[in-house]
Amino acid sequence: MNYTEEKKVALAAVTAAAQLCQRVQGEKGAQTLNKADTSPVTVADFGAQAVICQALAEAFPDDPVIGEEDAAMLGQPELVGVRTQIIQQVQKILPTASPQNVIDWINHGNGTVAPRYWTLDPIDGTKGFIRGDQYAIALALVEEGELKLGILACPAFPLENGTTGLIFLAIRGQGSVEIPLKGGTPKAIKVDNSANLSELCRIESVESVHSDRAFQTTLDRCLGLKSPAKQMDSLAKYGAIARGDAHLYTRIPLPQFKDKKENIWDHGPGVIIVEEAGGIVTDLDGKCLDFSLGAKLSNNRGILATNGTIHQQVLEAIRKQDYNRRNL
Ligand code: AMP
Ligand code: MG
Repeated sequence: MNYTEEKKVALAAVTAAAQLCQRVQGEKGAQTLNKADTSPVTVADFGAQAVICQALAEAFPDDPVIGEEDAAMLGQPELVGVRTQIIQQVQKILPTASPQNVIDWINHGNGTVAPRYWTLDPIDGTKGFIRGDQYAIALALVEEGELKLGILACPAFPLENGTTGLIFLAIRGQGSVEIPLKGGTPKAIKVDNSANLSELCRIESVESVHSDRAFQTTLDRCLGLKSPAKQMDSLAKYGAIARGDAHLYTRIPLPQFKDKKENIWDHGPGVIIVEEAGGIVTDLDGKCLDFSLGAKLSNNRGILATNGTIHQQVLEAIRKQDYNRRNL
């Protein structure tokens, strides 16, 4: 299967969602709310989910979508102003949308895992979006537990020519490409497969509580990494590895959250982009990521993404450090 229709629909949908996000960012006064888990969510997160789910529901009505957001909280009477802002933003993209359509499209993202499904993070890195840093609109297609298509729209991604905005796209067996968000010719991308650890670049979250930095510092020393890690919010980190800007990314649960499981939408779209660019992504024990189980990667521990060349060496260093930590 060459996924031509899926690619066309996904590209158009994330491009429209990116426009919505950029417009919300440009209009001061768009509101931010806190979810039950205290993480922030904005008008743009809900609006982007509505726009993408509308496109997927129309083109592939039988495919469930497992998205990060749901519209339940928007029913609270005090959030009527936020609901209105979301509806107005979606109507700028889809002028005939009714208020109920918008709520229904957001809730279309409440699907569950099936033999074929999409997973969506309408804004990954919401904290980065609010700060004016990196964020990604992230969408992946999974069939029989295997990632088949991944797409990331990264409106703030810095380019060599001084402009910003890239889309990363991968289809299984067809490689990975980057496309300027403003439009242009897709360009094939490859990881930088250097094995010289002292010169390689690690990339990490801006938010220090999203991975165990104490474990990481010892790991860096053990691997002989010399330069300080680049910091970047969101799944854009996978794009940075896929185009050779960085070589290594870990997500190590903090000791106090050691049973924390990652969300499928926080990784799926980036994983296939790194793999199709020649890299490797596993969990911290070297196990393949299992996207067949539900909204969480419940059979995996943390994440390791590399340029491929150094993967076994990093896994071995993690194994040794886990052993030392257990036997302290
Ligand atoms: P990043 O920008 O790479 O730090 O990732 C942003 C993602 O981190 C969000 O989508 C959240 O799902 C996720 N996240 C939030 N809190 C935590 C946490 N304590 N540990 C790991 N990931 C988290
Ligand atoms: Mg996310």
